[in-house]
Amino acid sequence: MNILITGGSRGIGAEAVRHFAALGHRVWFLYEKNHEAAQAVSAETGAAAICCDVADRDRVQACLGELPAMDVLINNAGIAHYGLISQIGKAHWDRMFAVNVHGMYHCIEAVLPGMLSKQSGCIINVSSMWGQVGASCEVCYSACKGAVIAMTKALAKELGPSGIRVNALAPGVVLTDMCKDLSEETMEYLREDTPLGIHGLPQDMAQAMEYLANARFLTGQVLPLNGGMVI
Ligand code: NAD
Repeated sequence: MNILITGGSRGIGAEAVRHFAALGHRVWFLYEKNHEAAQAVSAETGAAAICCDVADRDRVQACLGELPAMDVLINNAGIAHYGLISQIGKAHWDRMFAVNVHGMYHCIEAVLPGMLSKQSGCIINVSSMWGQVGASCEVCYSACKGAVIAMTKALAKELGPSGIRVNALAPGVVLTDMCKDLSEETMEYLREDTPLGIHGLPQDMAQAMEYLANARFLTGQVLPLNGGMVI
């Protein structure tokens, strides 16, 4: 399969690149600015790295317009911000939506013609458990991830008749650089609050993405990969 993964230079996205490349698929991935990390993932996996800010619609159109039709799009790129709503500021709020929500729209818009012409395809949007239940001090992030869930359900209804499936992944706490700003105390509190008593790993997410990529009768669903934290 041809697979496009956004945010593939590190964390969950990089693990997804490794996972699908190891299965023998042709993988392309987008990243924002860490050329060194992206080149390392590319050299390790053979996947093609493309420096492209998903918030920049023109750049997304230009980059993805040169690629062959995709079978799977994994909208994984995302940014987080931890703080009170009174402190986030308008510029930061706008950037969060530009990357986390508009970025997904831009990539979907760009790959859709190829999927429609084949009347098949699969889109996987990475949301978060906070998009399901909301998190204090992560109001904007929760709002973005809630939008991703609504977008996923609406798109599944719209694109199902064209043979295109759309599902979301709603991870709990996953050990990546995204969590590095959280204190050890907070991480421990979150672990204790998780029924399974463990944090997730990028490998857990990549495995679930493989399932979603192959689940021919599944669409419009939100897979809650959170150790039981949100049931
Ligand atoms: P990460 O910060 O480790 O990696 C983010 C990736 O996104 C990087 O490769 C980065 O280059 C890319 N990226 C960021 N902004 C971009 C932009 N504008 N254009 C293109 N690429 C961009 O994060 P992660 O933990 O691997 O998270 C991946 C996804 O999973 C995100 O959508 C995140 O919201 C979601 N998520 C993570 C957790 C967690 O605990 N780590 C929990 C729930 C959901």
